[in-house]
Amino acid sequence: MNSRVIAIDGPAGSGKSTTARRVAEGLGYVYIDTGAMYRAVALAVLEHKLEPTQETLDKFLPQLTIRLAVGPAGQQTYLNETNVSTAIRTPEVTALVSRIAALPNVRQYLVEMQRRMAGEGGIVMDGRDIGTNVFPDAAVKIFMIASPEQRARRRWQEMRAGGIDASYEEILTQIQERDRQDSERATDPLRKAADAHVIDTSDLNIEQQSAKVLEIVRALDG
Ligand code: C5P
Repeated sequence: MNSRVIAIDGPAGSGKSTTARRVAEGLGYVYIDTGAMYRAVALAVLEHKLEPTQETLDKFLPQLTIRLAVGPAGQQTYLNETNVSTAIRTPEVTALVSRIAALPNVRQYLVEMQRRMAGEGGIVMDGRDIGTNVFPDAAVKIFMIASPEQRARRRWQEMRAGGIDASYEEILTQIQERDRQDSERATDPLRKAADAHVIDTSDLNIEQQSAKVLEIVRALDG
């Protein structure tokens, strides 16, 4: 068992990243958002106007440097040493990322990087395949779920709070489409590991979600 790794998986908008960040803070662990890495590749594909195919990416991936840095402002994502933490959150990147994440060579490349990043200290890593594939021997595996409507409502509220006038219907459609692509892909699809703890976040706030995960981690320490 890898006692230094806490794996948090689940669909978009289930509350994974905020919970993972809080849990990492609570334990003094490093938080790693693997979605940011797939988003960085999608951004590079858009910037270079590439075809999102395995053949193109085979040639292109070795030219990319993706780096995650932990700082006072949280995790920062660097693509070829440019900070792209904001640029990877645009609707264009979000619309493309699941197609990029379905390519087996992209996954292999990023999964190897994720395993190397675990290093020596404790980590909380969130994504879609952390408990099933990246760290199948993680000490604690969490699978967070909530209805698509609830997840879309959260995203819509977050965007409105950030001054973005988004359409709830469009967000819901995009979440459902990403759920479909992430669950139906052949390589490491989104699914619950057999030994994962399921947390339904529909009626929970961030404090309650984080407390539940910390309770599970601390129960393990006995
Ligand atoms: O977590 P986030 O929504 O930022 O992830 C963006 C996309 O990256 C997901 O919709 C999924 O297609 C992909 N992803 C993945 N495996 C991971 C993390 C993210 O396929 N471990």
